[in-house]
Amino acid sequence: MATDSRMASRLLEQLPARQGFGDATLIRHRPGSIDLGGGNPDVAALPTALYRDAARDLTESDGFAASLRYVPAPGIPALRAWIAEREGVDAERVIVTTGGAHGLALAVLGTLDAGDAIVVDDPVYPLFLRTLDLVGAHPVPVRVGADGIDVDELERRLEEGLRPKALFTVPTFHNPSGGTLPDDRARRLAELADRYGFTLILDDPYREVGFEPGAVDVRSRLLDSDRVIAVNTFSKTLGPALRVGWMVVPEALSERFVRLRNRLDGLTSGTLQELVLRIVQRPEYPRVLADAGLGYARKARALQQALGARFGDDIEITDPSGGFFLWARLVGDADFARLHETAQDEGVFFQRGEWFAVDDDAHLRGTMRLSFSEQPVERLVEGVERLHRAWRQVRG
Ligand code: PMP
Repeated sequence: MATDSRMASRLLEQLPARQGFGDATLIRHRPGSIDLGGGNPDVAALPTALYRDAARDLTESDGFAASLRYVPAPGIPALRAWIAEREGVDAERVIVTTGGAHGLALAVLGTLDAGDAIVVDDPVYPLFLRTLDLVGAHPVPVRVGADGIDVDELERRLEEGLRPKALFTVPTFHNPSGGTLPDDRARRLAELADRYGFTLILDDPYREVGFEPGAVDVRSRLLDSDRVIAVNTFSKTLGPALRVGWMVVPEALSERFVRLRNRLDGLTSGTLQELVLRIVQRPEYPRVLADAGLGYARKARALQQALGARFGDDIEITDPSGGFFLWARLVGDADFARLHETAQDEGVFFQRGEWFAVDDDAHLRGTMRLSFSEQPVERLVEGVERLHRAWRQVRG
């Protein structure tokens, strides 16, 4: 519908509607259908008992009423200090955010101008591309694989003259493709950022949901570089409805990021920050994370096994060591748009790999992101049965 140009800003007027990933019109909800599309944690893995204790402790404490007041824009000091210690940085560099998406928007607004180029993962977390619409920055895809973003390819492109203002990557248990950037590659990335003068936006919501307890350091990487903005969230560990996350910014920019934040939402709920603090400080918290990781490992294996058993040589599947997703490629030719439709007729939803493309999606033909985090094992297995029925109907 056309609108009167005086009604809306150019930004609002021109924001594209969601296409592919996140476009609710593509999802046909029907009773009993199995959703392998989402990024929700397993509700059974969320520490509801710790929430109950924390809420009681908070609401019965003398400080409760004060927690309902405005709190400082960068976060309440005690939560900032807890995050800073965990990340191994000065608390001045920590800004508590209203979730990961908010941190990404702040990072984009604080780093990029209209027309700037930013290197991004290919396939990419699609909602990050939409954040770029806020400023009109231009994404440049670089392939990401089992070892994270392809640093050799990036270096070649830089040598050929590419001059990005920033780079965006999900370094651990990548969304959607599951890979993890090894430390030596991460170092090279920081060296390239220094040499060519660009900012690294590292978005790491899955690093605390590794399958093997202790295998991944929970600190963000490269925080000794003054070119890194690390964005994180409690969404995958404490639940996305909480809307609490954090970012670590370079010391030289910290005050200005707080100024920016003051012009947007001003603060993250102090009440929720007090709640989070009471949960993460509990001695049981590390166990909660470890148990969640073991649960996700079990589900990932179950989904891998079911896919392997049903599809055999017709499918290639990644073998992640954390996160919420398997990335799969169907071998052979088929009408993959029809597969997605037929799968929904059979009662299973997944994300088409093409929806994670930056621009050209030909190399993602036949790929799928299958989420194992939310559904119980028997639903994962049933989801594979349904997917396979759809595949039998459409394969060439
Ligand atoms: N980055 C990535 C890679 C994600 O997968 C998500 C959640 N799906 C986010 C950021 C956003 O996190 P939040 O829900 O805290 O906004």
